[in-house]
Amino acid sequence: MFSFHTLSVIPRLPANISRVNEIAYNFWFSWNRPARELFFRINSELWDDVYHNPVKFLLRVKQEELHAAADNPEYLTLYRNVMEHFDGYVQGKKWYHTRYPGHAGQYIAYFSAEFGLHESHPIYSGGLGLLAGDHLKSASDLGLPLVGVGLLYKHGYFTQRINAEGRQEVEYPYLNFHEMPMCPATREDGKEILITVELPGRRVYARVWRVKVGRVDLYLLDTDIGRNCREDRDITAQLYGGNKDVRMAQEIVLGIGGVKALRELKINPYMWHINEGHAAFLCLERLREKVQEGVNPQVAAEAVTANTLFTTHTPVPAGHDVYTAEMMDHYFSHYLGETGLSRDEFISLGWDHDRCVFNMTYLAMRFADFVNGVSELHGHVSRCMFSKFFGSIPPEEVPIFHVTNGVHTETMMAEVMKELFSEYLAPDWRTNISNFDSWERVESIPDDVLWAVHLGLKKKTVDFIRHRLKMQRIRNYEPAERVAELEKYLDPEALTIGFARRFATYKRATLIFRDLARLTRLINDSSRPVQIIFAGKAHPADHPGQEMIKRINDFTREDPFRGKIVFLENYDINVARHLVQGVDVWLNNPRRPEEASGTSGMKAALNGVLNFSVLDGWWPEAFNGKNGFAIGEGKEYCNEEVQDLEDSLSLYAVLEEQIIPLYYQRQAGLPGEWLKYMKNSIKTVVPYFSTERMVREYAERYYVSGITRGIHFRQEDFSVAARLEAFKEFIRDNWHQVSVATLETASYTGLSAGDTLNVNATVYLGSIWQEDVVVEIAYGEVDNNNLTGIKAVPMKMEKKLEDNTFLYSGKLILPRGALGYTVRVRPSSPDFTHKFEVPLVTWACGMG
Ligand SMILES: *Cc1c(COP(=O)(O)O)cnc(C)c1O
Repeated sequence: MFSFHTLSVIPRLPANISRVNEIAYNFWFSWNRPARELFFRINSELWDDVYHNPVKFLLRVKQEELHAAADNPEYLTLYRNVMEHFDGYVQGKKWYHTRYPGHAGQYIAYFSAEFGLHESHPIYSGGLGLLAGDHLKSASDLGLPLVGVGLLYKHGYFTQRINAEGRQEVEYPYLNFHEMPMCPATREDGKEILITVELPGRRVYARVWRVKVGRVDLYLLDTDIGRNCREDRDITAQLYGGNKDVRMAQEIVLGIGGVKALRELKINPYMWHINEGHAAFLCLERLREKVQEGVNPQVAAEAVTANTLFTTHTPVPAGHDVYTAEMMDHYFSHYLGETGLSRDEFISLGWDHDRCVFNMTYLAMRFADFVNGVSELHGHVSRCMFSKFFGSIPPEEVPIFHVTNGVHTETMMAEVMKELFSEYLAPDWRTNISNFDSWERVESIPDDVLWAVHLGLKKKTVDFIRHRLKMQRIRNYEPAERVAELEKYLDPEALTIGFARRFATYKRATLIFRDLARLTRLINDSSRPVQIIFAGKAHPADHPGQEMIKRINDFTREDPFRGKIVFLENYDINVARHLVQGVDVWLNNPRRPEEASGTSGMKAALNGVLNFSVLDGWWPEAFNGKNGFAIGEGKEYCNEEVQDLEDSLSLYAVLEEQIIPLYYQRQAGLPGEWLKYMKNSIKTVVPYFSTERMVREYAERYYVSGITRGIHFRQEDFSVAARLEAFKEFIRDNWHQVSVATLETASYTGLSAGDTLNVNATVYLGSIWQEDVVVEIAYGEVDNNNLTGIKAVPMKMEKKLEDNTFLYSGKLILPRGALGYTVRVRPSSPDFTHKFEVPLVTWACGMG
C-alpha cells in the first residue's frame, strides 16, 4: 500500500448562491429544514446517497445542477430566506448576552469523548453523545461563549448490519474528514495547528479540526497523521474501541491534548465542564500549567477546582472508567515531575480503595467544586454512591446536585409538528421553548388536525421501515418472497410501540418477551392489534447485548410476530428521528435506577408520542398520571430476577388495561382520550425537558459562579486560592479536636406544632477559630431510625466559656410529626462554594 494526500475540491458555486458553502459547513443545518432544503431541492436522490452530508453533497453534485438552481427563482427565494435567517441567528443578541452582559468572551470549555450532532457525523454511541451535541446546539441558541472539545474518530462508532441469521455484524466506516462539515483549525498565520502529548517513550501529534455548530465551535483532535507511528495513528480510530492502553491514550489526548489545543487556539476558558469521567485528565494538565508558572501544587489544585464542573452519568460503580496503578505509573511517571506531585499524591487523586484502581470519576470529583447528576433520581443515587467521600455527612446532604437532561427540541421535532405549533402557539415558541404558558395553547389544536398529523408521521415511518428492511434483505440475499412480504409489514393504524436504544443489558430490551403467550395474544388481537419496532446496537464486546438482538430478530421471523414485530438495523440519529416521530408509544424499561436520565423519551414527547416507562431517570419528574404511563411503582429491589418479573407483569397489565383500551376507544373515528394524553404530554414535557432549559440551568447555577470564582481565586497571584488551601489544611489537621460537649433543651413535654424549642450547646473548638465554624441545629423526620429531609438552623454564639469552649443557643420552631434533632459543627468560609466543601462535620450525639 502506498500513501497519498487527500484534498477535496468543491465545485465552483455560482456567485449568487455562493454562501451555500457556509451552510454546508455549519451544523445549524441539522435543526433547520430550509437549510437542508438548499441541498435536497437540487438533487434529493444524491442527498440521500450522501446520508444528508451537505459537504459530501457539494463534492458530488454536478456543476450544471448548481447552475440550474442559481437560475431558479424559487430556489433563490429559499436561498435568500435561509441566509437572512442564518445571519440573524449568528449575529443576533441572545439570552446570555442580556442576562450576563459582563461575561462576554469568558469562554466555557465543554469536554466530552463523544458528540452526536447529526447522522453524517457518526462520532457518538448513544445518549451521552447526543446530550453533548444538544448542549452545544442550545449553547449556541442561547449565546453562551462555549467551546466544545472532543476526539475525531476515523472509523467513528461502528455501523450495525443484521445478517441473514439475525445477528449483529459490525462495520467500521472509513470517514474521510475532508468530506465532512469541518476544517483543520489554523493559527493566526494560517498554519495548521498540531499539538503534542507525551506517551511512554514517544511523542504523539494530533491535528485539530474545527466544527461549527451554529455560533459555537467544537474542536476535535485526530492522531491519524503521518508524523505518528502506525499504532499512534490509531489512537483515535474508534470510539470506545481498542484495549485499555488505547483508551488511556485516547483519554490523554482528549484531556491533556484538549487543553493544549485550546491554548494554541488562544482560547483561555474561564470555566471547565467535564462531561463524564473520560475527559478528567484535563485537570492534570491545568494543574501542570499552573505549577510550571511557579504556583505551589496544592494552591494550583485549589485554583483548578474552583472553576471546574463535573457531570457524572454513571449510576453504577462498575460503569466508571478505571486504570490499574501500574498503568498510571507507566503513562504518567514522566509527567509527574511537572505537576510537582509525588507519585503517591498523584495516585491518591483518583484512588478507588474498594476496587484498588485509579478511577476517572474520582479524579474528576477531586478537581471539581461543582458536581452534578443528570436527573433528580440520579442526583440522589450519586449522593448515596459517593457519600463515602464525605465522612459523616448524611448522604442526602452530599454536595452533588442535579441538572435534569433535555433534548434540542428543534433537532428532533418533526417538521409538520413545528408547523402545527407555529400555527397554534405564540410566534416565538422556537426561541422560548421553556415557556410553559406558551405550551398551554396546545389545547387549542383541534383533535382531528393533531390526529391527522400524527397518522401522517406514522405512515412515513412505516414507509421508512419497509424500505430499510427491503435494503437489508436484498443485501442479505434473502429470497424474493421475503422481500415482497415487506409490503404487508406493519399497519399505520395499529397501536405502534417503539423501543430503540443501545442494547446494554440493563435496558432489558427483551423484557416484553418474558411471557410469550401473553404477548402473542396482544399482538394478534384482530380488533385491537399491537405492533413493536425495535432498533439498537450492542457494543461489540457486549455478548449478552448481542444475544438479545439475535433473540428479537428470531422472534421477528416467527409466525405470530412476523410483520408485527420488526427490528431495524443501525440505530443512529436518522433512525431515531424517524422512530420518535412515527410511533404511538415509546417504551423504556431499564432496571431502575440504572438509567441516569435517558433522553429518547423526551424526543418522542416532542412529537406527541406517549411515554411508557419504568419510573427511572427523567420519567419520575415528568409523569403525572395523565401524560403517559408508568411501569412499576419506583420500588427498590435487591433481587434482579424479582425486579424483572414484577416489572414485566406491570408492563403487560398497563398495556392491557390502560394503553390498548385508550388507544382503541374511538368517537367519530378519533381516540379522544388518547389525544388528551398527547396534548398533556406535549404541554408538560416539551417546555421542561429541553436543552434550552438545561443549558440555562448550567449557566445560572454553575458557569457564572465558576467563572467568578475562578477569577477571584487567581487574583494577586492566586492569593485567594492559597488562603483557602491553607485554611482547609489547617482545618483538616485540627478538626479532630472539635466536640459538642453538652446539648440541653429547655423542655420536652407538652409541645405542639409551631412552638419554639430552645436549644443550648457548648462546643469545644481546640485551636480552630470560632469564626471559622458554623454550629447549627440539624433536624428532620425520623424514618427507620434515620433523619431524613434534614434542615439546619444556625445557632448563635452567646459567650466564650473557658479554654476555647463556647456556648451556643438556637431556636427550633417545631414542625408537625415525628421529629429528630441534634446539633452539629462544620467548618465554614466565605470562600466555600457549598457548605460541605471540606467534608467534615461533628455531631452532638448519636449520629454518624
Ligand atoms: C436520543 C438517542 C439516544 C439516547 O436515548 P436513551 O433514551 O438515553 O436510550 C441514543 N441513541 C440515539 C441515536 C439517540 O438519538
